[in-house]
Amino acid sequence: MQTACSPADGEVFPLPLLPPPTAPASSSARSRNRFTKKLRLWKYAIGLIHFLNFLHVGTSRHTKKLYAAALVDEPNQAQKAVWRHLLQISKTGLRVRREVPPTGGQPAVAALVKSAKVDAMGYATVSKTHAQVPMDASRIVEPSDERVVDMLQALPQDERQFYAREENVVELLGKSNVIQQELEQQYAFVGGSLEEYLKYFHRQDIPTNMWEWKRFRDVKAVAGFSVVPKKDGSSQRKLLMCCSFNYLLCDPRNRSSLGMQGAGALTRIHVTAGDKLELAACDQSNAFTRVAVPSWMVPYLAAPPVTAASVWGLLPGHLKATISEFDLVSPCYKRLPMGCSHSVHILMMINLQVIGRSLRANAVVETGQHDIPPEEQPNRLLEDLGCDHSFGGCNDDEWWFRFQVGVGQRFESGYSVQEWWDAIRAARSSSDRTIVVMNFSGGERRDGDVQEHVEKLAAEANIKVLMITVDLGCDSRWDVAQPETFHELMRMLEGYVDIIVGGPPCSTVSRARHRRGGEGLNLPRPLRFRSCPWGRAGLTTAESGRLREANRLWLHFMMACEKVSARGGCHLFEHPEDPGVEPFPSIWITPEMIQLELRTKARRVTFDQCACGAPVKKGTTVSGTLDGIGEFERFQCPGVGPEHFHAGHATGLDERGSFRSRRLQAYPPAMCELLARCIVKSAQRMVTEGSGPTGYLLPAGVQAVPTAWSFSHSQMHSAGVDILNEQVVHGRRTLLSSTQAGVYLHVDDTLTFSTESCSLSAADMMHTVANSMEEIGFVVPERVLPNEVVKVIGYAWSPSTSTFSLPPRKRVLLQRALRALAVQRRVEVAVLRAVIGLWSFGAQLRRDLYAVPFVIYNFIDKFDGLTVRLWPSVRQELIHMATAVDFMYALPRKSFNTYNPVFIASSCFIFRVQMDCGFAGSVERRWASEQTFKTYLDVVPTVKRTLPISFLLEFSGRAMGEGVLDFDGFEIPDVPTLQGLPQA
Ligand SMILES: [Zn+2]
Repeated sequence: MQTACSPADGEVFPLPLLPPPTAPASSSARSRNRFTKKLRLWKYAIGLIHFLNFLHVGTSRHTKKLYAAALVDEPNQAQKAVWRHLLQISKTGLRVRREVPPTGGQPAVAALVKSAKVDAMGYATVSKTHAQVPMDASRIVEPSDERVVDMLQALPQDERQFYAREENVVELLGKSNVIQQELEQQYAFVGGSLEEYLKYFHRQDIPTNMWEWKRFRDVKAVAGFSVVPKKDGSSQRKLLMCCSFNYLLCDPRNRSSLGMQGAGALTRIHVTAGDKLELAACDQSNAFTRVAVPSWMVPYLAAPPVTAASVWGLLPGHLKATISEFDLVSPCYKRLPMGCSHSVHILMMINLQVIGRSLRANAVVETGQHDIPPEEQPNRLLEDLGCDHSFGGCNDDEWWFRFQVGVGQRFESGYSVQEWWDAIRAARSSSDRTIVVMNFSGGERRDGDVQEHVEKLAAEANIKVLMITVDLGCDSRWDVAQPETFHELMRMLEGYVDIIVGGPPCSTVSRARHRRGGEGLNLPRPLRFRSCPWGRAGLTTAESGRLREANRLWLHFMMACEKVSARGGCHLFEHPEDPGVEPFPSIWITPEMIQLELRTKARRVTFDQCACGAPVKKGTTVSGTLDGIGEFERFQCPGVGPEHFHAGHATGLDERGSFRSRRLQAYPPAMCELLARCIVKSAQRMVTEGSGPTGYLLPAGVQAVPTAWSFSHSQMHSAGVDILNEQVVHGRRTLLSSTQAGVYLHVDDTLTFSTESCSLSAADMMHTVANSMEEIGFVVPERVLPNEVVKVIGYAWSPSTSTFSLPPRKRVLLQRALRALAVQRRVEVAVLRAVIGLWSFGAQLRRDLYAVPFVIYNFIDKFDGLTVRLWPSVRQELIHMATAVDFMYALPRKSFNTYNPVFIASSCFIFRVQMDCGFAGSVERRWASEQTFKTYLDVVPTVKRTLPISFLLEFSGRAMGEGVLDFDGFEIPDVPTLQGLPQA
């Protein structure tokens, strides 16, 4: 049952306290026992209520008033619903508490924090020295076979091109030799005795293709070699600390957009009502060690050198021939070391490709691989109509006839927005670089249009081009003035589109509007003047509507162009030439256009369309970053004469009363051809250089886009698969259904998600992925089926309740540890930091809980490395954080938890802090002491709380729909509506 509430009775906070259970009349042991249990549950729930009320207010300073309010209020429907919810949480909390054997608070801290132990005084403390274990060569775990995954072969095409060349990856500019040497002095040591070190290399069971001996003077960087104990306590894992190599490497962060958010990804899963989530998992063993690096990388992965004599028997003949026994030689690692800053990125890219490819093939309905983008089917409809080719494929009458036939029903673009998404994703994931072009230059597809020329020229140049021609006027599915469509377009331009060309409609700047006596002829009036190019005053409703629409298209298209060029792509913006005199307006004089040209270093060229085959002069300006744009300059009207004539006026109305200039938006033949040449020229350059938005070289300061392996349900695929790593980066959610499944990759852990009704089962997908990984050389022994999964990436999974949560032991220990820290007079900040880190891991399950710790971060920053007196406000936060642990769970269900009490309360708090900081911008964010922090809280104004609640409800309601974000900003409703109340 859904309960709708008016604001009066829908107010949730402050939440009244639950009435205590009444003492039993009978004094029997059984009823007393039951009463004690009830009392315990009630106390637990009261703790949660105080916590939520604290979040609501944001500080603990008005608690008295709050408690009073919480006591007297009669609960409304909404509050009762929250109560029920909290009692449920309390029950679970009490249950797990019983499951975990009791420990003291300090031992709980010690149990949680790896390097901490309880000292003589009974306090948990972080030991200064690392848990070093002496190296034991025979205990170092290594794979026993020679199987490897060739790194370059296994990487997707763009990454392969990037990592194939040393100069792409190693960045020597601005790097100092001295620093490299210092790093090597500090870190390039052997973490053990020389004897064990040599013994390791003499081991017979080490794969022969794992190390390569090189003269020490030939190596380019030296790494440290040490070991850490493995979980079983006896075996050891070797650790290559390639600090100096990392120093020489370029920053991998720009290349990486892996969406590895752990629980952040899990919480993006939703399941359709009535269906049940299923998940399966598999785990690669020794994933990094299996990857064989390209040969250029090997000299950078040298371990500390030894004398040739000590390893003489291991050295290959050709090396022995060139050195003496007294020379130094270094073993160079030929596999991917875990400690290299690019390793996670490389492994993830390999794995994502395996997952994407195999699942796509697995979901294909027919047999065979469909990994290539669908061949573009040019629209042949027009040919069949047999137009005359005198101009633009058809004459005026015909054009007008067609234009009038069902605008909004014809799909001239060939692709819907979703189909185009699928096509460009497939293009990005294909094995060859495909240049993606979007043409918004208006007009329908016809013979001799830009696209036809581009496809012909690209085939001749032997480059792959995927192109779409969007008719802004005719295809309702591509109405870029609509915020949802524009949002989709902008997302496409984030790394999926290389070239964008076109011009937004220009009828609002038409000179016809300025014709004298136009009003008498019932011609449209001017909407803009030169002095006000974005619109004049005194327009009718219809006129201003049209103007707004046009302005929006102009600005949207400018933004689109800038986005593509900012990522190293090319754009071309076409619009009528600036008449240059009053009163005629022009887009070319707007500051927005001039700024765009400055930022993108665009070039502007003006020419006459009559010189390229148009019947009228039609001065036109193109501006952009497209290669060869300057060539348009050669189209200049030679003047009317016997060889060259203009056919009538471009302005005014034709005999049917239709607006003639509209028809001239189709480009004349020579212009189409030149535009196509420019596009193909740019495409060719991008392919050769590896540049452009879909290329492997990113321009400086540009963040990589995530991979594009997700695909949706279609005729070709029985069900779609969302790669959650991609969804996370895009801020999208995944709704699992009968036709939609999902995968999440965490380095070497793969999780597959589906529902009971889905044609792709989680177990099948997991086996498909695991088998494909084994096919390329990995070993995937650990495969967990849906009924066996209890833990994923560190979180507990309960199939019966479909809940992700902190594992019970961790949950209880964390609460005990936080409460123990809160009562200490002095605290070791290192311990505090470690516990907060674990708390944050849990808070990933419900990110709004991050609103709780606030002062504590300042405290840690200020006193890092010290043992100091705890601030009372930090103490308070620690207590609240302990309570917050009860809310660390995630339920992948249909609707967003709009009515989640923590969500609402904490969002109010986040919102307040943000608003406060905005208002009091000059206030120093890092407070020197707790006192100044309090003063800060006193000076900032309080924001009305209903505002954020309604804001957030509106937001989550919207997020559920297809269009995630509206570029016009949110509208805050007058009345907050509470939807999705828990079932009564
Ligand atoms: Zn001319």
